[in-house]
Amino acid sequence: MNNILFVASECTPFIKTGGLADVVGSLPQALRQYEKQEVRVILPLYDEMDEEWKDQLEYLCSFDVQLGWRTQEAHLFTLTYNKIIYYFISNDYYFTRKGIYGYYDDGERFVFFSHAVIESLKYIDYKPQVLHGHDWQTGIAIALANILQPVENMKTIFTIHNIKYQGVMPLDIYEDFFRLGREHISGLEWDGMLNCLKSALFHADKITTVSPSYADEIKDPYYSEGLHPMLLNRADDLVGVINGIDTREYNPSSDPSIFMNYRSARSKKRENRMHLQQQIGLSYKEDSPLYVIITRLVEQKGLHLVQHILDEFLNQDIQFIVLGTGEKEFEGYFADIAYRYPEKAAALLTFDEGLARQLYASADFFLMPSKFEPCGLSQLIALQYKTVPIVRETGGLKDTIHPYNELTGDGNGFSFTNYNAHDLLNVLNYSLEIFNNPSEWQQLLKNVNKSQFSWKDSAHQYVTIYESLLPELVYG
Ligand code: ADP
Repeated sequence: MNNILFVASECTPFIKTGGLADVVGSLPQALRQYEKQEVRVILPLYDEMDEEWKDQLEYLCSFDVQLGWRTQEAHLFTLTYNKIIYYFISNDYYFTRKGIYGYYDDGERFVFFSHAVIESLKYIDYKPQVLHGHDWQTGIAIALANILQPVENMKTIFTIHNIKYQGVMPLDIYEDFFRLGREHISGLEWDGMLNCLKSALFHADKITTVSPSYADEIKDPYYSEGLHPMLLNRADDLVGVINGIDTREYNPSSDPSIFMNYRSARSKKRENRMHLQQQIGLSYKEDSPLYVIITRLVEQKGLHLVQHILDEFLNQDIQFIVLGTGEKEFEGYFADIAYRYPEKAAALLTFDEGLARQLYASADFFLMPSKFEPCGLSQLIALQYKTVPIVRETGGLKDTIHPYNELTGDGNGFSFTNYNAHDLLNVLNYSLEIFNNPSEWQQLLKNVNKSQFSWKDSAHQYVTIYESLLPELVYG
């Protein structure tokens, strides 16, 4: 049994903007259940968190955090959920805001959080053997753990969930944010800026990312967002471990947010669809397959490709629903599509977990033509709800979705290689052909039913990595 402390900026069921929260929510449970690890999790306490959780918090203590020449106060709270202990750090200035990201001082907010995490180790009754940080918001915590050694022999792991977001700030804030000698600047700096993600890549004992393909891709300038020299340098310590999902949580046979529970029967999936479309005011067409997108509306998700070809694809006998929020360009585009095709398309421009589950349960196809995708959880959730993913072959999408092959009968979805709109259109048309061919369609659904991505194997891989860092036990 090892003591592992997760540090992250979001975690289900407390606060979520994307897949990071799902991973930080479900991996500790899997590490406890399958591998008997003692995992705890430390998070910021956002105003945005539901009262349901705030009411359960137990106050532990308050302490000062030194940021350069300034002092900020932190308050530490805890709660236990599903046998995992969670710690929350609050601060009256940084986290009492609407939403969780998107402020001009996000860098400063998470530099503060990182300092507070390291300081909190003096006050909690728990000695982590491994500090496991997730994404740029925790990069400085990993760096400080290495520089300050707050717990004797504590090792560090840093997981890249998305290299695009790095937490970059002007270097001249160094003396305002850190009480460290200038010799530490080079470890935190990249390209003339203070870079939180790079700081972790420099300081972590091991680096992981969320799929083997993405681990390869980020050593290449096309995908590395400028950090490939750093990753090539640390290539021996970089491992890709595919994410799993909580298969009890995302389970159509017990999910309370869908209209009708089912195991694999298409008829019940159809009833979910009828109910959903009635609710959102899109007329239901018995023979037209339903294609859906559920995502943050950002360029990464391949939405420019969709923009090029959706009008043409909507000429086919299909229906289309998008659920998402994000960049105005895409929100406007999808609202316009829904306006121009009132019988065929709908745009739900909101973030709504219940609606997302109803859509996974109702759809025939789930579309995810990402430009890059570190792992992607949505395609795995789609498989759980017996919805066929259509993806671009990149990162975790390439590692989890295998294109249907009529000759061998293998494959659990559809895919295309090049980031090209007409390749997407071709694969969409092909998916429709298979849908309209009952024997091929049945074979594909059989394969989808068999695809499972639970955490079991990946949890084991993480433990192997943790143990590679810890001193070997001496028996006898
Ligand atoms: P990313 O982490 O890049 O956003 P992932 O595929 O790893 O992408 O995870 C996205 C998660 O967020 C999935 O659980 C997906 O269902 C959920 N999600 C995305 N957009 C919405 C939305 N508008 N409403 C509800 N859930 C959403």
